[in-house]
Amino acid sequence: MEELLREAQKVYVKREDEKQKQKAKMMVAAVEEITKRRQEYRDDRKKEEKYEKQNPVIRERKQQAGCYYCGKAGHFKRDCPDFQTEKETVSLMGFEEE
Ligand SMILES: [Zn+2]
Repeated sequence: MEELLREAQKVYVKREDEKQKQKAKMMVAAVEEITKRRQEYRDDRKKEEKYEKQNPVIRERKQQAGCYYCGKAGHFKRDCPDFQTEKETVSLMGFEEE
């Protein structure tokens, strides 16, 4: 009977071990996935930048697209009502921004 209990415990410990291994495997996979995605994102940015350099028209169009802050056309970031609101909030909170 004791023998059986010990055997059962061994199996239990082994199972826990498997679980830990599985967990570790999943974590490694997750980290690898994130690293891969970051690399892909960086590659995309590089491609985009290269493409824009080769096509000044696109670059110009992007610059004319409008507000850098809120994305709306017709005004720039320094004239952006959203940006002004945030600036006011920030200064109210005591963080002066030049
Ligand atoms: Zn804006």
